[in-house]
Amino acid sequence: MNEAPHLTFDLDSPGVSTGHLVVPKGADCDSLSLPVFSCNRGEGPALLITGGNHGNELQGPVLARRLVEWLPEAQRCGRIIIVPEINPLAVQAWTRNTPIDGKNLNRVFPGRSDGSVSERIADAISRLLLPMVDTVLDLHSFGPTWDCAPSIISHPIADIDQMTKTVSISKAFKLPVTLLWEHNETDGMFDTCVHRQGKTFICTEFGGGVVSAEALTLYEAGVRNGLIALGLVAGKAEYPTFRQQKSGQTLETTASDQLKSPSPGIFEPRCSVMDEVKQGDVVGVLHPMGSLSAASIDIRAQSKSIVFAIRSAMYVQSDEEVAILARPLAH
Ligand SMILES: [Zn+2]
Repeated sequence: MNEAPHLTFDLDSPGVSTGHLVVPKGADCDSLSLPVFSCNRGEGPALLITGGNHGNELQGPVLARRLVEWLPEAQRCGRIIIVPEINPLAVQAWTRNTPIDGKNLNRVFPGRSDGSVSERIADAISRLLLPMVDTVLDLHSFGPTWDCAPSIISHPIADIDQMTKTVSISKAFKLPVTLLWEHNETDGMFDTCVHRQGKTFICTEFGGGVVSAEALTLYEAGVRNGLIALGLVAGKAEYPTFRQQKSGQTLETTASDQLKSPSPGIFEPRCSVMDEVKQGDVVGVLHPMGSLSAASIDIRAQSKSIVFAIRSAMYVQSDEEVAILARPLAH
């Protein structure tokens, strides 16, 4: 019989403790030991912070390690569990999906104990860590081929109270954007699994393949604001500076706000994130490279919008997303 997923230490130990979450071996690979940092200060909110869900979004794991350095001292109550990389196989390969089974960890929750390695990771987290907390903060950064506004993203939640609470906590991070993202493929996402347990899920997105010191500073300031709002850390929350501004806005995006490539070619961005565009403005240009005659194709905004995320120059296939526009939340 297979070994069960387990922790090598007791999360209920008071104060700081460390150990591993052991994901059992399966037919496809050996067992994994994910480093886990825990700080238990008794009564209060209980938060799980995860990074490295997608292996090519390294801002999250870096920030998680930075939090490990100062958070235990700053934490005044409750419980915080930090797992800097929940998918070390993908992080080591710098891939979105797990290289061994080709699966997107963020589409296989709550996982399976007898499944492939991504499913076993999800199962171990769902079974051993989620029951210990009431809120999850999953640190993403949109992947290396995009630039996106520093943001908290949430998908619409059917439960109104849960939605209201999620948006309220999300705004408290005081990041430039709180985005409500209508998404039709939420099955198997970490957030869906957390919501089914009646818990709150917060997802940060920080754009791009470049892990810059500036972006990390902003990221950390936002997370600190969130920790203050949750009551875990003392202090006064302030808007971090982004593009010379200290402010935040709540936006929404739907499938029709996503601009796609009309043909294969190199996408050239003509806007930056947070730019305001009106109907007909050129957001980017597609250069078909294989022809002497084909002209470049303008990709235009369909309506007055704000550029939430845009592809960096890269070769794209036909119908591939190149920009995600958004609008102020209507209600
Ligand atoms: Zn991600």
